[in-house]
Amino acid sequence: MPIYNPPVKDARFVLDAVVELDRYSNLAGFSAASPDVVSAVLEEGGKFAAEVVFPLNQTGDAQGCIRHPDGSVTTPDGFKDAYRQFVEGGWPTLHAPVEYGGQGLPSAVATAFGEFMCSANHSFEMYHGLTSGAVNALLAKGSEELKAAYIPKLVDGTWTGTMNLTEPHCGTDLGLIKTKAVPNSDGSYAITGTKIFISAGEHDLAENIIHLVLARTPDAPEGSKGISLFVVPKFLVNADGTPGERNAVTCGSIEHKMGIHGNATCVMNYDGATGWLIGEENKGLAAMFIMMNDARLGVGLQGLAQGEIAYQNAVRYAQDRRQGRALTGPAEPGAAADPLFVHPDVRRMLMDAKALTEGLRALMLWGGLQVDLSHHAASEEDRQQADDLISLLTPVIKGYGTDKGFEIAVNCQQVYGGHGYIREWGMEQYVRDARIAMIYEGANGVQAMDLVGRKLAQNGGRAIQLFFKTVGEEVAVAKGNARIASFADALEKANGQLQAATMWLMQNGMTNPNNAGAASYHYMQIMGIVTVGLMWLRMAKAAAAKIDAGDGDRAWMEAKLVTARHYAEQIMPDAGALRRKMEGGAEAMMALPPEMFADR
Ligand SMILES: Cc1cc2nc3c(=O)[nH]c(=O)nc-3n(C[C@H](O)[C@H](O)[C@H](O)COP(=O)(O)OP(=O)(O)OC[C@H]3O[C@@H](n4cnc5c(N)ncnc54)[C@H](O)[C@@H]3O)c2cc1C
Repeated sequence: MPIYNPPVKDARFVLDAVVELDRYSNLAGFSAASPDVVSAVLEEGGKFAAEVVFPLNQTGDAQGCIRHPDGSVTTPDGFKDAYRQFVEGGWPTLHAPVEYGGQGLPSAVATAFGEFMCSANHSFEMYHGLTSGAVNALLAKGSEELKAAYIPKLVDGTWTGTMNLTEPHCGTDLGLIKTKAVPNSDGSYAITGTKIFISAGEHDLAENIIHLVLARTPDAPEGSKGISLFVVPKFLVNADGTPGERNAVTCGSIEHKMGIHGNATCVMNYDGATGWLIGEENKGLAAMFIMMNDARLGVGLQGLAQGEIAYQNAVRYAQDRRQGRALTGPAEPGAAADPLFVHPDVRRMLMDAKALTEGLRALMLWGGLQVDLSHHAASEEDRQQADDLISLLTPVIKGYGTDKGFEIAVNCQQVYGGHGYIREWGMEQYVRDARIAMIYEGANGVQAMDLVGRKLAQNGGRAIQLFFKTVGEEVAVAKGNARIASFADALEKANGQLQAATMWLMQNGMTNPNNAGAASYHYMQIMGIVTVGLMWLRMAKAAAAKIDAGDGDRAWMEAKLVTARHYAEQIMPDAGALRRKMEGGAEAMMALPPEMFADR
């Protein structure tokens, strides 16, 4: 049977060492996050994830969801009761605004809980996963009436939110959207069209489901400039706030898919459903981007979460399973064979997984901090800097985080040998579940294009310059610290590769846009390596300081330094190879006509 132990100790370390929560206690949103409250959220939240949600992960995968002839959907056994406990425990409200019934805790704290939930049960987490993005979009662009009608019940989990972009002929290219929104005489709109692949589009967990839907008004301009955003509830909301008449939106079918079987991925049919405009007509994509940015950070977290649970199980298995002998002679001569743990190649996979999960955790929680600071930092300059950094790094968190999450899951499955391929051990589910995160919410290649094509150049390159300055300054300081100087050297080299790669893009991407397109994925990976490297520098610095001060669990802090060294030796050097791949440019990649690919 698979296991899951929420990594509370590591999350706590990151919140102290990298996020440095206590530095911000004077800011709005942070004052509620006293060390006691944060500890309670991590401990109790971890317990909830491990004891209530995790036991439903394998059964939910085996059972899947059922759509009934009337369009209703039944979720796997136990999901409904677990969702009730989730709501009763106040878990949906952690990071939500106080004025709408939320607890107003920092995003970094809610992110830590989100990781636990997603490791425990990716499918279950997704029923509520898009709701905070829906709340953010409504908060930023909704009228006061819409806010009052929808946000409180989305915040407390009584209702859940969905995101409706994709149509059968239109995925990445949202300019192709066909769903129509025709104005009604009362100010509402009649929404007609088909959306596909809608996560949690229909289910039996919540009293109402609030769909945020992209559609076109009759005279809208062609392409992405003619898209508007609407809120379309499953049940129309009565004047007293209760759910009333059934709206004309139904689930036409649910997909049979590779993973996340416990989450209903729905075809949603809108047949003149009543919806209300969020923000202005034809400005819907910008409004939806508020939700999408939130979702992209959440999907990056899913990558980490799947990597973490796969890692934990592989560690246990490598201790229990005995095969062969250590290359240096029997480690346990009294036994018939040594544990898998003695083999360097097994260690390679486990150490990569350890270094990446811990590094990505730091990145996710630090990302949460930037979201908070972009709203609440004391000065306009600090808010701007946090906004620049999170905007630059959102595609990296999504793209690199989910690529590595999947890679970790596959490597940890490999640790099991053939048993990793057998369902009862659970590892093949983690691989299947992790795979979707690389695809949805903007496929990772599209994230890379966003990074290279939009984010680098934004505001004259202000964000990437800030990023380079930050890395450069922290490396310079760390070089004076004997315990972490060699790590700082390695990060300096990887950062040098990133700088050279950025220069190459500036020189070659403009002259031939295919060069930028061909290089963007590699660039995103280099940036991921350096960004996680920066997180490791901070963790190593904190661990070294604790060792010097004789503070805390010394062996655990020493292990952090060893893991940082592994990251420097085994992962950071990839930056150089990736840069050389970029420099190959697009010529050979784009030279052959499609028919030559098919001529075998
Ligand atoms: C399980 C699941 C859940 C989902 N949940 C939701 C949801 O809740 N709401 C929702 O709206 N959608 C959802 N989706 C849809 C998902 O976001 C899309 O599948 C995804 O964005 C890609 O769109 P597509 O499948 O149409 O692929 P396409 O757009 O056809 O792309 C195919 C491939 O071509 C590449 N590509 C396309 N255009 C470009 C370009 N300009 N430059 C470079 N490469 C390009 C892509 O990267 C991809 O690899 C979900 C999908 C799945 C499978």
